[in-house]
Amino acid sequence: IIDIQHLSKFFGEREVLKDINFSVNKGEVVSIIGSSGSGKSTLLRCINLLEKPSGGKIIFEGTNILEDMKDVNQHRTKMGMVFQSFNLFNNLDVLGNCIVGQMKVLKRSKEEATVKALKYLKLVGMDQFIHAKPKQLSGGQKQRVAIARALSMDPDVMLFDEPTSALDPEMVGDVLDVMKNLADSGLTMIIVTHEMDFARDVSDRVVFMDQGVIAEEGPPEQIFNNPKQERTKAFLRRTL
Ligand code: ATP
Ligand code: MG
Repeated sequence: IIDIQHLSKFFGEREVLKDINFSVNKGEVVSIIGSSGSGKSTLLRCINLLEKPSGGKIIFEGTNILEDMKDVNQHRTKMGMVFQSFNLFNNLDVLGNCIVGQMKVLKRSKEEATVKALKYLKLVGMDQFIHAKPKQLSGGQKQRVAIARALSMDPDVMLFDEPTSALDPEMVGDVLDVMKNLADSGLTMIIVTHEMDFARDVSDRVVFMDQGVIAEEGPPEQIFNNPKQERTKAFLRRTL
């Protein structure tokens, strides 16, 4: 569903992504791990064109989305993104957050958008809070709303950038449970995470990034139990 070829990204003189090649199949769950500054967020932001890559190709559902920048919005609606910092609209209530994009971007009627939003709010366990404003919610609740909002757009892929790293420890489990259920349901997901147990548990494949390159990738058993690269071993020694 996504095929990334020779992707590079410069910020000024600094090359923060160097010749990235990897692909994600439909229904696959891929976790991206690596040290701070290794380029994980930049890679995700390039995939949904929040950053403009400096070179290479991103083939998404058969089209190189970098050649076809006119359709940025169309591509982006097919990729749901969940950030560390929730990014909810604070002036809208929970339901409003989950229907506004559907109505504006997908031109759904309010009724249709509401049905869809309620379905996903229920899935993430937030259907009791539809009239709450974001500021009345805990971090974990906000993040679950953000996930429901993204799912309401019927994306073909969900991208998660450290969705639990801004949460109090007692909230992390709820959000990870929701993500585990999504993974089990067959959704295609790319997840940047520091939660190594979660990555080991839900991923079909783990990508380890180091200093702007993919240093190693493979099934979780290989990456966590039997890493081939010295720098993967060093990273895991520091984090596990
Ligand atoms: P973390 O685990 O801390 O989130 P990361 O792996 O997500 O790290 P990135 O945020 O992708 O890392 O950053 C990769 C490098 O690119 C870093 O050195 C960062 O300083 C640099 N960088 C990121 N965004 C920008 C920007 N907008 N302008 C300039 N440099 C940037
Ligand atoms: Mg990051």
